[in-house]
Amino acid sequence: MKRKQILAALLTGCLLLAGCGTAADSAVTETPAEGASKEEVAADASTGTASAESSEETAQAESESYVVDGGSPWINSNIKENCLNFEKPSEKDDLNMAVNYDWVRNTEIPAGYTSTGTFVEVGQIIDDKALATLEDESIEGHDAELVRAFYNAFLDWDDRNAKGVSQIEPYVKDIESLSSIDDVTAFVTDVDRSFFTPALVGVGNTGDLTDSTRYVTNFDHTGLLLGDSAEYKEFSTVGKLKYDAYKKLFSSIMTRMGYTQDGADKYFEECMAYETALAEKVYTSLENNDPAIYEKILNYYAPEEMAELAPNFPVDEFIKSNGFDNAELFLVTEPEALAKVSELYTDENLENIKGYFMVQTVLGCTAYLDKETFEARLDAQRSIYGASGALSDEKYAYVYLNNALPESMEKAYMAKYDVTETKKTITKLCEDVASVYREMLEGEEWLSDETKEYAISKLDSLKINVIEPNEYEDYSGLDLNGLSYFEVQKALANYRWELDKKRTNGKVNKNIWEGISTLETNAYYDPTVNSINILLGILDGDFYSDDMTKEQLYAGIGSIIGHEISHAFDTNGAQFDKDGNYSSWWTDEDYAAFQERAQKLINYYDGITVYGDEKAIGSLVQTEAIADMAGIKAMLTLAAKEENFDYKLFFDSYANIWKDIQTYEANYTQLTQDPHPLSYLRVNVTAQQYDEFYEAFDVKEGDGMYLAPENRILIW
Ligand SMILES: [Zn+2]
Repeated sequence: MKRKQILAALLTGCLLLAGCGTAADSAVTETPAEGASKEEVAADASTGTASAESSEETAQAESESYVVDGGSPWINSNIKENCLNFEKPSEKDDLNMAVNYDWVRNTEIPAGYTSTGTFVEVGQIIDDKALATLEDESIEGHDAELVRAFYNAFLDWDDRNAKGVSQIEPYVKDIESLSSIDDVTAFVTDVDRSFFTPALVGVGNTGDLTDSTRYVTNFDHTGLLLGDSAEYKEFSTVGKLKYDAYKKLFSSIMTRMGYTQDGADKYFEECMAYETALAEKVYTSLENNDPAIYEKILNYYAPEEMAELAPNFPVDEFIKSNGFDNAELFLVTEPEALAKVSELYTDENLENIKGYFMVQTVLGCTAYLDKETFEARLDAQRSIYGASGALSDEKYAYVYLNNALPESMEKAYMAKYDVTETKKTITKLCEDVASVYREMLEGEEWLSDETKEYAISKLDSLKINVIEPNEYEDYSGLDLNGLSYFEVQKALANYRWELDKKRTNGKVNKNIWEGISTLETNAYYDPTVNSINILLGILDGDFYSDDMTKEQLYAGIGSIIGHEISHAFDTNGAQFDKDGNYSSWWTDEDYAAFQERAQKLINYYDGITVYGDEKAIGSLVQTEAIADMAGIKAMLTLAAKEENFDYKLFFDSYANIWKDIQTYEANYTQLTQDPHPLSYLRVNVTAQQYDEFYEAFDVKEGDGMYLAPENRILIW
């Protein structure tokens, strides 16, 4: 259900940070693992060290060009070496480096991570408490039992090692045996046989964007190994690292099953041939990040129209075998890609299709097998994202668990830790920030009264969700006791599949936060609910504590709340009404005025050199950069009501929460693929827009942080 992931990724595109230096992702490839919604977002920020000789050379050769050689108007201080090579600047010249200089010089990226900073620090506090939850046998209830069963099965290396790679062998042999396109049809329409295989297409329910109260049945092509379809025209640095790492990982497992190196490589090249042909018709990451994407992907079809979309493929049989033949309405986000699947579905392409099945199946299962496979998988991640070392096994177990069973994990955690007071305080702060948005919107001179009025009604309808949802998905029927880790995966996927089938033609329960664990260090705006969701995992450390000053509170979690609310009113938010339905509510003139302002920001970012020839990509980061500015504007509006507010402390605290060092690979990946700007730019570009910053630090023309008033980007 690749498209389901894309929809989810689009909608969670307003997460504060995608991935945030996490040490382990849940999918080594973009292989759809039973429709888990956030995995794609996390996958691109996963990790690895380079233990492979060839990959290591590549990584280091590439790395050198990222260092020190320039950076304008500031040095990229998210790369540690840059801070070692320069004197400490003043806040007037480079706010981020000035505040975080000593921290950067004295900090190492922890083993198994691709970055560190406030997000990782706070994440580690939460992770330790979650691990204590998992070790605490006194916590009762079904959810606690589920998470313990998952956790213990993951850590049962004796059993996993005894089974080796044998549990995927029947699936591999089955794929090998396919000898005609009719065989492929029999394979893809038998769910048991193709259980771990992306079957060229996927079907499942997803919240309908046009009418967000209901589910629609989504039918689309399955995923690409390299994630971004643009990689198939020309490798980016990251794409090449992925290609090499996945090829090596795949052959290491195939040779353990008795295949030759050449045989494994042949499957891999055939997989690439299939994907390269398909990728021509698949939207690129850049296209998927464009606010105009919704218009292109919302294509609805009646059941009787489905077969025509891919005439060579057994569409109706496939839908029936998956249990969705009672669906009354289908959504196909990329009809042209589906037509391409059909075009490729011939005997002539049999070997390429088999290659696709083989590679995707084997790589998709690398997290579920023995230690040797798991280590090889970590090696692949390390060579892609440049980390070194590894987490403890217990921590990996928790990371995978929190991805697989987020709701049960958080319920077990809540049974151990009381969050009542924090919930009250943060809810009140959210209400205060929402109220200053009202003032901000009312004061905007460039918005027409009509748009302003609607914006305020949307603000009035905003749901403030703090720490935990009102309702959870029903996992009472799931039993994981006594299963091996591989069987746990199958039981989980089956249970989710059963839940999904029950949703067909049904209503969405918006009280559930689907697929999100509140233990993640993050926050997000959900346009289909018109809610901000502030997760427990961010309410600690430098973001939030009981004894913070007002300045620290506003710069910390306050600015984050402000950031999320702004997504209700940006180029994405403008396309969803107050009830969460895809429906534009801006007048054309207002939308054009907004675009004009956004263009100024795009141009500004496009002019920033990060290293070498690499520049920031304005169109990629526009929405998130605007949200950062709006967040600070909201907090400055709130600060203006305080007496003796210390603006120096406020801006220093703001720079502190974005302290961040990354591996070169992670930094480069974020620069080129992530809608969130690099942290040092989130600090410096945001701060230099506001008079309060100039006054606090006496910034004058000629200083590094100075931006002439006429060049400032004041969206809000
Ligand atoms: Zn955001």
